[in-house]
Amino acid sequence: MSTIIYPSPIFGPVHSRRLGISLGINLLPADGKVCSFDCIYCECGFNSDHRPTLPMPTREEVTKKLEEKLKQMVAEAQQPDVLTFAGNGEPTCHPHFAEIIDDTIRLRNQYCPKAKVSVLSNSTMIHRPAVHDALMRVDNNILKLDTIDPIYINKVDHPNGDYDVDKIIERLKAFNGHVIIQTMFMRGSASGESVDNTGEEYVGPWLEAVKAIKPQQVMIYTIDRETPAHDLQKATHEQLDAIRDRVIAAGIPCTASY
Ligand code: SF4
Repeated sequence: MSTIIYPSPIFGPVHSRRLGISLGINLLPADGKVCSFDCIYCECGFNSDHRPTLPMPTREEVTKKLEEKLKQMVAEAQQPDVLTFAGNGEPTCHPHFAEIIDDTIRLRNQYCPKAKVSVLSNSTMIHRPAVHDALMRVDNNILKLDTIDPIYINKVDHPNGDYDVDKIIERLKAFNGHVIIQTMFMRGSASGESVDNTGEEYVGPWLEAVKAIKPQQVMIYTIDRETPAHDLQKATHEQLDAIRDRVIAAGIPCTASY
């Protein structure tokens, strides 16, 4: 199995481990990846291996294709559980992310009112008021916080430009609980260095940050597909269960995906 570049702007529906029957909305170019991170575990591969030549889809293209797909699904009596913003990179990088969220909520209400609108984001654009406000309007605002250790973040998530984890935590708190924290736990190594974040030196401080953020839920998971860095290993079920149980003991719902 190799890394994946998704069709754009609509893909699926696919069955998601965490979300159910999910219709994907990919705001990134159809032939490559655009992300403000360059995670060593990214299922789309490294940014440098998938530089796009096509532009991002326009707001109009996204809305048109989404409506066509929803009409088709309704005609086939196939209701999505969730409309998920994900795909080839970071959805909030799209310059019209907020307007597209509003279009999507309108179409959801029209064609599949029971479906949730979910956004998977790496949290790097939540300082933008329009992005913050749009994320407040979606059902599942799923934001990445892999660790609070700056060295680990640089080694594993490779942020482009400044990334201040303390500021990110403050911005996550500003959602006042309307946020789901998503965290990757894994073992193994990259470039000859350990990238294991399942030990107490990572889990303990991360848990304190999660408690301070007071999210509605936490989703922890591990590697599921081929990764661009080849010496990564899955966290074990026991490790994930133990972390999950600590989050739940802190009064925060938590799921683990293996
Ligand atoms: S934030 Fe997501 S899309 Fe971006 S590099 Fe990391 S895993 Fe890939």
